[in-house]
Amino acid sequence: MKVFKFGGASVKDPAGVINLRKILALYPEESILIVVSAMGKSTNKLEAVVQSWFTSQQPECIEHIEELRFYHQELIRGLDLSHAEQFELIRRADVHFDQLRELTKLACYTNYNENYDQVVAFGELISTTILSEYLNRKGITNSWLDAREYVVTNDTFRDARVQWADTQKRIESLKSEQGLKAGINITQGFIGRVKDKALTTTLGREGSDFTASIFAFCLGARDLTIWKDVPGVLNADPKLFPFAEKIDELSYEEAVEMTYYGASVIHPKTIKPLQNKGIALYVKSFLNPEAPGTVIKQLDKHKSPPCIIVKKNQCLISFAARDFSFIAEESLSFIFGELYKLGMKAHLTQNSAISFVICVDDDPFKIEPFLKAVGDNFDIKSENKLSVWTIRHHSERLEKGLIQGKTVLLEQRNRHTVQYVLR
Ligand code: ASP
Ligand code: MG
Repeated sequence: MKVFKFGGASVKDPAGVINLRKILALYPEESILIVVSAMGKSTNKLEAVVQSWFTSQQPECIEHIEELRFYHQELIRGLDLSHAEQFELIRRADVHFDQLRELTKLACYTNYNENYDQVVAFGELISTTILSEYLNRKGITNSWLDAREYVVTNDTFRDARVQWADTQKRIESLKSEQGLKAGINITQGFIGRVKDKALTTTLGREGSDFTASIFAFCLGARDLTIWKDVPGVLNADPKLFPFAEKIDELSYEEAVEMTYYGASVIHPKTIKPLQNKGIALYVKSFLNPEAPGTVIKQLDKHKSPPCIIVKKNQCLISFAARDFSFIAEESLSFIFGELYKLGMKAHLTQNSAISFVICVDDDPFKIEPFLKAVGDNFDIKSENKLSVWTIRHHSERLEKGLIQGKTVLLEQRNRHTVQYVLR
């Protein structure tokens, strides 16, 4: 069994869906589980639906749903199917749109995140329905699976944690009951369900890679391929650094480090389950499916290539003690406690006896309440519009060239990594 993951960008228009079929045709003999995200920017649009539902703006809510319905209908009309077949696909998609409309007519409960997950999941349900029906009509017979039956989570809506033992059991039963057919199976990324409840959850934005990894792990898949609009994992963002190159091979460890420092090519939670079972991860271009891409696997004594990761939109916050005390364990645990409560991540930290500095995403919805919570205890300064540059496996020459002419506010280095906060 192989697992493929196709993201929203790969199925954003009719050409993308047709291309997906052509990629599958390259693997005629294989059993493949395909994990698919919502088409194009549907998830963003569904977030707008949630927003208007939550604020009781019924006309806006209906308008957003209609726009989304129109987008999917246009996509279906562009597919290489007869009119009757297109009509049938539109009807199938409409089943979901009707449910979505009915849901948003109800009064919404007070938990925003819970509402959010019930609505936003429709993006994946609709995309997989269209795809599965399309492929069936093009002779690629497949089974549609509801990922919520298999991915069991806790009830931390919008950032649900996988309950691995239950998930493993469900996916194993899928295997043994022959629910999982030889050939092609299609399911949704990003979504799961609270154990023993009828409530849908999501794994966090861009979580479909992680779903693919969950299925690959529990199925003991031979490999996982993530199909992207780039040739593979690159050693820098080509929009910022024209010299960026594709990396042919990466170790699991290095891939984990890269995603930790902010490389956005793969969702950070994807690698670990694969590493635990030694399942290879291919990152390949859906525009050039026969090119080798990047493979992430067990590599011993591998020399990792230099790479640069830029995190933009960062805010540097520094804390100084008001009294004569040191910033030590007690104050640090207080600061981290507040970060944790707000779901904030400290991307970089540095401390001296009387001061402490952290770098976080510049999200005013989080920073403001954070500063309010900690403000009484310290003198605080903050500066935003900064970026954090992480260079792995740096050479002096590379580093010098990169930061030339920039204002370095903070620098931190260890054996494999150097990080700069730049203005
Ligand atoms: N559709 C979800 C999102 O846009 C999940 C994903 O694409 O991985 O965040
Ligand atoms: Mg996506």
